Amino acid sequence: MRFEILTLFPELIRSVVDESILGRAQKNGIISVNTHNIRDYTTNKHRKVDDTPYGGGMGMLMATQPIYDCYKAVYSSLPEGRTKAVYMSPRGRIFDQNMAKELSEYDNLILLCGHYEGVDQRVIDEIIDEEISIGDYVLTGGEMPACIVVDAVSRLIDGVLSDKVCYQDESISSGLLEYPQYTRPPVFNGKEVPEILLSGHHGNIDKWRLEKSLELTKERRPDLYEKYMFEHPVKEPKKKKKMSASVDN
Ligand code: SAM
Repeated sequence: MRFEILTLFPELIRSVVDESILGRAQKNGIISVNTHNIRDYTTNKHRKVDDTPYGGGMGMLMATQPIYDCYKAVYSSLPEGRTKAVYMSPRGRIFDQNMAKELSEYDNLILLCGHYEGVDQRVIDEIIDEEISIGDYVLTGGEMPACIVVDAVSRLIDGVLSDKVCYQDESISSGLLEYPQYTRPPVFNGKEVPEILLSGHHGNIDKWRLEKSLELTKERRPDLYEKYMFEHPVKEPKKKKKMSASVDN
């Protein structure tokens, strides 16, 4: 999968995506994350990329020309495949695990990062398929939101994590919040690891983990709990048929 990120601050992106699991996935050729400095495409002799908004108002807006030319250069270099262009924006659809799954089915994702007061609407209308927000708050730029999308989507690509089970069992992906987890030492500040986890009985451990996940989800995310219970109705144990008293006299 290819991510093409259009930004004024490529170093911000690189400092995140070149580390740890994403860095390794790039080295192994499973994903590629390419950053493109929009400023390199400006035709302005002072390398300006923004201007004041028509109609007045605070701040500066990113202008159409550098973004459009950057997009065209990137788009024409893409290999064939399903491509989607996204503008990171607080006005967009809120990003969640289902959307990460949806995006992981594309071959190429183009992510446009805004800055300052945002982007001239005409270039959004011209090149963008969808606006995506990472939550109901406003950041100074789209770089961190883009990194969040790259991270969440990449984890779902085969080979990025050691095993699919790594994310299938996790909070949200499973439909529930994750159960508490423990590692060595067995006692920390007087607090012991739950005995069942040391028992080696996998059936009982799975049962305990599901119970804990249900408890935690019910307490913290009643919305997820309701949805999960609707989709996984607990089967009532079959009632035993009453033995009818014989009346053969
Ligand atoms: N004036 C814009 C508005 O009210 O919608 C906000 C501009 S914001 C200061 C600058 C840039 O940060 C945006 O163009 C966008 O790319 C990015 N951004 C800020 N908050 C975001 C969020 N919650 N999700 C995604 N991108 C965001």
